[in-house]
Amino acid sequence: MILGKLMDRLKDKEERMVEIRRHLHENPELSFQETETAKYIAEFYEEKDVEVETGVGGNGVKVTIDTGTPGKTLALRADFDALPILEETDLPFASKNEGVMHACGHDAHTAYMLILAETLIELKDELKGTIVIIHQHAEELPPGGAQRMIADGILDGVDNVLGAHVMSNMETGKVLYREKESMTGRGFFKLTIKGSGGHGSSPHLANDPIVAGAHFVSEVQTIVSRRLNPFEAGVVTIGSFDGKGVFNVIKDQVVLEGDVRAMGDDTKKTIEKEIKRISSGIEATFGVTNVLEYKDDYPTLYNDPELTRQVAKAIKDANLSNVTSVERCEPQPPSEDFAYYTKELPSSFIYIGAAPEGQIYPHHHPKFDINEDSLLIAAQSIGSAAIDYLMNDSKE
Ligand SMILES: [Zn+2]
Ligand SMILES: [Zn+2]
Repeated sequence: MILGKLMDRLKDKEERMVEIRRHLHENPELSFQETETAKYIAEFYEEKDVEVETGVGGNGVKVTIDTGTPGKTLALRADFDALPILEETDLPFASKNEGVMHACGHDAHTAYMLILAETLIELKDELKGTIVIIHQHAEELPPGGAQRMIADGILDGVDNVLGAHVMSNMETGKVLYREKESMTGRGFFKLTIKGSGGHGSSPHLANDPIVAGAHFVSEVQTIVSRRLNPFEAGVVTIGSFDGKGVFNVIKDQVVLEGDVRAMGDDTKKTIEKEIKRISSGIEATFGVTNVLEYKDDYPTLYNDPELTRQVAKAIKDANLSNVTSVERCEPQPPSEDFAYYTKELPSSFIYIGAAPEGQIYPHHHPKFDINEDSLLIAAQSIGSAAIDYLMNDSKE
């Protein structure tokens, strides 16, 4: 009964979801600077019968929907930051904030979550337990908003956390899930190799950091191929090798920067250890001095298997007219700071297919766009999972 009521109301509000998404899309803000968006979110709840806390761990907003009936506490998380990208779409609601763009779909996340939260508030007397809405800032930029919101107590009293991401590379109508490790953890580093400069004709009087750096780049390739168990997944990419100089001058220093991803926190640790070892080896071999700044970042996103299956089943059982299938998918290469919630509590993060008609651009691309049908699908999917979770709870 209550499920049908929630689904119908969400359907009736589809247009408003789209309007909110377009408003947010037009007014994107960078990670840790999303003050106007946070204000917009808080204002949305004004006059609503609900407890709202702003400034949680920074720009985060916490909304607590207490149904008044005992039960479990479920947190639903949606992020709201944008990226430093110059938008190149022809959308009538393209970014008005030049150089900043919602190129990951966090505008869609916030839009569907506001309307879902509003509807849950309207129906709260018919629900059990407590729903905490986590409007999270700064997903895109390490150290990320999740850690800070957690440190500020956002998960106090919460039993489980659910989240979703719209995906431009997945067919609209599909809802996808994956138990256990489902998104990579990451780290990044900056290596400064200091040698001593000199004349190109007299390398014996200098100490060339470019040669040392070239060896570092080659040796790092052996971490994945020689140091990881073939059943572990990890990757190291050197994204920058700053050795620009003059053809006949030996430089005194080069700077390399790299990215590490791994589908498991142990694997990530192994890669970090090996990078440090190779760096020390290069120092010994070439007589250079290395300064390695290694930053361990978002952990691997681990979806609780039981909760994830329960969520998938609830969405399937809801028989949503716009959902063509609920399927298990492959693990996804990007990283997500939702992973921090999964480290604290059994949690689940699902994917909502959002491929637009025509050309598809990946997330973080200047022409990124989504199919807006995914907003209602996200609201109804997370909504039906929440209803199943709260109403089938025997804890009273
Ligand atoms: Zn992103
Ligand atoms: Zn994202």
